[in-house]
Amino acid sequence: MTSKSTTMGTRDGALESPWQNTLEVSISNRQNAGVYDCLVVGGGITGLTAALLLQQAGKQVFLVEAHRIGFGTTGGTSAHINTFADTTYAEAESAFGLEGAQLFADAIREGYDLIAGWQQDCDFEVKPGYLYAETEKEVKQLDKIYEAAVKVGVNVAYTDQVPTPVPFKKALVWPDQAQFHPLKYLSVLQKAFLAAGGSIRENTLITGIESKGGLHTAGDIKARAVIYATHTPPNINLFNFECAPYRSYVIAVKLKGGKYPDALIYDSQEPYHYVRTHVIEGEQLLLVGGLDHKTGHDDPEKAFKALEKYVREYYSVSSVKYKWSSQYYVPVDGLPYIGQMPMSAEGIYCATGYNGNGMMLGSVAGKILSDLVLGKANKYEKLFSPARVKPLDSFSEFVKENADVAYHFVADRFGIYETDSLKRLSPGTGKLVEVDGKKIAAYRDESGEIYALSPVCTHAGCIVNWNSEERSWDCPCHGARYDVAGKVLTGPATKDLTAISTHES
Ligand SMILES: Cc1cc2nc3c(=O)[nH]c(=O)nc-3n(C[C@H](O)[C@H](O)[C@H](O)COP(=O)(O)OP(=O)(O)OC[C@H]3O[C@@H](n4cnc5c(N)ncnc54)[C@H](O)[C@@H]3O)c2cc1C
Repeated sequence: MTSKSTTMGTRDGALESPWQNTLEVSISNRQNAGVYDCLVVGGGITGLTAALLLQQAGKQVFLVEAHRIGFGTTGGTSAHINTFADTTYAEAESAFGLEGAQLFADAIREGYDLIAGWQQDCDFEVKPGYLYAETEKEVKQLDKIYEAAVKVGVNVAYTDQVPTPVPFKKALVWPDQAQFHPLKYLSVLQKAFLAAGGSIRENTLITGIESKGGLHTAGDIKARAVIYATHTPPNINLFNFECAPYRSYVIAVKLKGGKYPDALIYDSQEPYHYVRTHVIEGEQLLLVGGLDHKTGHDDPEKAFKALEKYVREYYSVSSVKYKWSSQYYVPVDGLPYIGQMPMSAEGIYCATGYNGNGMMLGSVAGKILSDLVLGKANKYEKLFSPARVKPLDSFSEFVKENADVAYHFVADRFGIYETDSLKRLSPGTGKLVEVDGKKIAAYRDESGEIYALSPVCTHAGCIVNWNSEERSWDCPCHGARYDVAGKVLTGPATKDLTAISTHES
């Protein structure tokens, strides 16, 4: 039985990224038949890469996506393809030794090469990447980044020419970085996967897996192996303590005059900013992003305003064409977790903790996980193994990340949030309100209708916060997100928020 779906028109928030509007694909939603070699859960860059490699290797693969292909962060990324990473090679060397840093650099490069090898008709362009320092402190960091990158053989040099209006003290250039259209790329992978005989089913949330005798079952699907390519694995798991969810912001602006830089440019501030140019439907746009913060911990409206103020300070902006945000996961020791899912049956794999580098790391994770399913050795298996022992010096960071979680578990329960009555809730807004002594996550739509939900996150019981920009309820503990009707947008939750019937008070 097949059913047709024709667009990639949605992502995990109310705002629109330019990617989701420019693509139309038609896919067959096949139904289950027999036992598959591998069930891939998640239709982002990780899932489609793993699924394609396995299907091309002769395995029978079923890819299942909770929403639509590209719905997750791959549909909200800013799509830089780099040979450096948020965890610098200096940081990787200090935590994992020179050999670890070398392997990390090789993995990033392999991810880049996988994309370069498959890309076609997806706006792929090689461009120089610049990183500049504005203060003496940043200059010191830049020097460290340079030295460690050279040690692991990455092509980088000092430069005093950066196509930026921002005054800087010192800068680096990576001559061969790249950019692309992430959903056009997904469509290339998806078509190749289907052409090789793979199966895809959308709008299907996997809530759990039952394993028995080497066979894994999810609903009506049976498979010999499972890959959680869900960006963060569902439900309560070890990664709730090993990775912290972050929101990141992007705006795409039209310039009045002046040249759009033909490069990928990053500053070294914390949180940082970046700019790059992309042509969307024939129109040149400057993408400006950054200002990342922990999910549910800061005001998204403030972040967008700050981003716009920043770009207007340096560029002559005529209009803001797009603004959107998305989520990524920061691993506690700096490297991603890719491999056998801890505390799960043998043959269940996962990949998470890519930081802001999931184009390369998601691609290489697809390769690593497909090798594991095929029973082949992979040189990155040990370094990225989720079972690895955490280096001691990451422990303080671990405590810091999780102190927040502990805070929300306790403080939320004691009602530290300001609450308000339903009456004062204006159309198009959401708020935690109190009705008859009960705390409610309430949203009033434009027509005046109220959506009242329990604010208790179904993942681990924290209280969700309203995200006024993406119109979602975001959990500050582990990053689960829900739409205004309470439906799960982003894991690790797999159950919707409970609807509450209420009368306006
Ligand atoms: C604003 C922003 C900018 C970024 N820019 C860059 C960049 O320039 N370069 C770079 O390398 N990286 C960047 N990143 C990071 C990168 O985009 C991500 O790491 C990457 O897209 C993750 O891909 P994924 O396939 O693992 O996850 P996703 O793209 O999130 O896909 C996971 C999919 O799994 C589905 N799913 C989840 N749970 C279930 C379930 N239980 N059942 C079924 N399906 C499920 C989801 O609906 C989703 O579609 C950026 C991140 C952000 C937030």
